[in-house]
Amino acid sequence: MQAYIALTPGDGIGPEVVAQAQRMLDAVAARYGHTFRYTTHLIGGCSIDQHGTALTDEALAACQSADAVLLGAVGGPKWDDPNAAVRPEQGLLKLRKGLGVFANLRPVKVHHALLDASPIKPEVLKNVDMVVVRELTGGLYFGSPKGEDVVNGQAHAVDTMEYTESEVERVVRLAFQMAQNRKKKVTSVDKANVLATSRLWRRVTNRVAADYPDVTLEHMLVDTASMKLIASPASFDVMVTENTFGDILTDEASLLAGSMGLLPSASLGESGPGLYEPIHGSAPDIAGKGTANPIGTILSAALLLRYSLKLEVEAAALENAVEKAIHARACTPDLGGKLSTSQVADYMLEQF
Ligand code: ATP
Ligand code: MG
Repeated sequence: MQAYIALTPGDGIGPEVVAQAQRMLDAVAARYGHTFRYTTHLIGGCSIDQHGTALTDEALAACQSADAVLLGAVGGPKWDDPNAAVRPEQGLLKLRKGLGVFANLRPVKVHHALLDASPIKPEVLKNVDMVVVRELTGGLYFGSPKGEDVVNGQAHAVDTMEYTESEVERVVRLAFQMAQNRKKKVTSVDKANVLATSRLWRRVTNRVAADYPDVTLEHMLVDTASMKLIASPASFDVMVTENTFGDILTDEASLLAGSMGLLPSASLGESGPGLYEPIHGSAPDIAGKGTANPIGTILSAALLLRYSLKLEVEAAALENAVEKAIHARACTPDLGGKLSTSQVADYMLEQF
């Protein structure tokens, strides 16, 4: 097949890890007879330096016309002032909005060879293979009213958690569809004992569940879920939750795998290109040193093959290459290895 992939490497280690993922995608194209065309665009701090904005309209338009977008990371100490009018994260928000993505998927799989790399006990981590689906466009971060003012001479602030039925339905439906291709279990996480939005979430989820009789649904309060994620993570398959809860739970879940550098993510909408990126940030402390772990980005490229290009066999082949490298400890220092960012990809390419 022919596919067009827009690359937005961004800042810090972003360009280092995206370059390695692109090498792996090229290897997939060569082995399976596909043609991948790429364009590269600035996003984040590098775009602010060049254009005065974190993502130009031209770059966004290019991403919108692609089959998929592979992103590195944005931000860094140079652009850290939270009060600055132009900030790197604005590029990411503009890109997500422009692509219409509403669900953020984060698979967490604990590799056998890395059972000792996590702070959590190995027996608890065995068989962890789950996906957290986080709603991305609604809830507390975007509801109105929002802001700070002064009431009765006191500083006062308000954020509003807000959801519509259709916003809940589309993300929950995606979670059920994912579960059908996995272990057929959905855990919907909310705070229905105190939040109106959560009661709506539960009602909609129950209605959607009726369309997926082969999938088991459980509801769990977010406080319970945050405990179970550490105490018995292998009991989860697909977890679906609203924006803020998802933000917190995905970070918690990422700890299970042993390194930030390992985990991929996909952000999907109803149609149009998906956005794929490692869960880690720009890691300014190691940028330019050649020690960044490229695996999170390479696994993101595998998700890109799976979800946007519908190339399941190719996606699995890439995941298998990662599996083999981890097994052989052909890894960067964050996993106790001695290889550089590009040497990890070299190893995978030799085996591919
Ligand atoms: P952001 O605000 O963009 O999320 P952050 O500071 O919260 O950034 P990261 O930039 O991801 O988080 O860095 C957190 C820590 O994890 C740093 O010490 C960094 O070096 C390490 N880290 C992140 N990504 C990788 C990677 N790919 N390989 C090795 N170490 C990494
Ligand atoms: Mg962070």
